[in-house]
Amino acid sequence: MTDVLFKCWKCSKNLAVSTKRIGKTYPCPQCEQPLMIPDSTIFYSCPVCNWSLCSPSKHAGETLTCPNCDTSLIAPENTSEDSDEDQAITIRCINCHQGMAFDMDHYHELIGKTVDCPTCSRKINIPQGNLKPNSEVVL
Ligand SMILES: [Zn+2]
Ligand SMILES: [Zn+2]
Ligand SMILES: [Zn+2]
Repeated sequence: MTDVLFKCWKCSKNLAVSTKRIGKTYPCPQCEQPLMIPDSTIFYSCPVCNWSLCSPSKHAGETLTCPNCDTSLIAPENTSEDSDEDQAITIRCINCHQGMAFDMDHYHELIGKTVDCPTCSRKINIPQGNLKPNSEVVL
């Protein structure tokens, strides 16, 4: 089970609730302000007791308190890939099903152009339009 760690925006009390309650309203136990449990994108664990925790990204770098062992800990920066460095588009040849991965920069250069399938030499037109990073298209 993972706890969402966040702070009451009104009184700054450290709060921890189960991820099952994300999106639900919860009254702050200290000031009774109704709070929406924030969707959380930073996943980490307590360095002392290893308790599974997550926090909304706006809390990155803030000091929070482990609900299990009361250790002060700092919510880390979101480590999931936010940059487009590792993102790629895979284009699969409809003829021979060979997949070709292009990084996003390369893909943007190829939009509207034609590439040769390395396996069957078929001409593949790279369409206009925004393909999502890390997706795969058959052309
Ligand atoms: Zn409060
Ligand atoms: Zn702990
Ligand atoms: Zn091919």
